[in-house]
Amino acid sequence: MIQIQGLHKAYGDHEVLKGVNLEVDKSQVVVVIGPSGSGKSTLLRCCNGLEVAQRGMIDICGQRLLTNGKMLNDSQLNALRTQVGMVFQSFNLFPHLTVLDNITVGPRTLKKTSAAAAKEQGMALLDKVGLSEKAAAMPASLSGGQKQRVAIARALAMEPKVMLFDEPTSALDPELVGEVLSVMKLLAKEGMTMMVVTHEMGFARDMADTVVVMDGGRIIEADKPEVIFTNPSQERTRSFLQAVL
Ligand code: ADP
Ligand code: MG
Repeated sequence: MIQIQGLHKAYGDHEVLKGVNLEVDKSQVVVVIGPSGSGKSTLLRCCNGLEVAQRGMIDICGQRLLTNGKMLNDSQLNALRTQVGMVFQSFNLFPHLTVLDNITVGPRTLKKTSAAAAKEQGMALLDKVGLSEKAAAMPASLSGGQKQRVAIARALAMEPKVMLFDEPTSALDPELVGEVLSVMKLLAKEGMTMMVVTHEMGFARDMADTVVVMDGGRIIEADKPEVIFTNPSQERTRSFLQAVL
């Protein structure tokens, strides 16, 4: 579903991805961990064309997004982005739209779904994330955990083939983290292909098929969670885990 080869990305002189190779198969959950500044967000943003890498190749959802600094054109990119859902740390809901309208606006405008069909789908998604009773609420009235669940429902409304999560629970009060992780676990169990940057090691341990450890713009190791958490091959992985666990 995702294949990344030899990805290099620099901001000016500052090289932040130094040759990243990664594959994510259909229905796999890949969790990316590593210290702040190691390039995790940049890697994720490259996967839906929010950043352009100077060198390397990215195939995603059966399309070549990037080869050696050349991206799909804008209309191809927009089409691809409907297949690649992204959820950020900051929820980025539209503040002037109700919860339901936040979810239906994408399908209605980008996929030309009828208002009735979009509403039906939106209500089903709200049910899935446990927020049916909030359809008419405004985002400002929701807790952080509820906002993030709406953001996930909004991404799902585009019927993506892949979901990218960039620290989806990092902005939440601790007691609200669980409700968002539960929704993500449900998605994983349904077979969604997911790439997740998180510091929630419990989620990584329980849900990841592969845990990828980044440091200094490189993947320093990638393995099953039981290996990463009990017997990592890299000293830097060990010291990172000691700091966060
Ligand atoms: P992580 O998500 O692992 O914390 P990032 O991918 O956000 O790491 O950042 C990797 C490096 O790239 C950091 O040194 C960061 O300061 C730098 N960086 C990220 N975005 C930009 C940008 N838009 N312009 C310049 N430097 C950036
Ligand atoms: Mg980041």
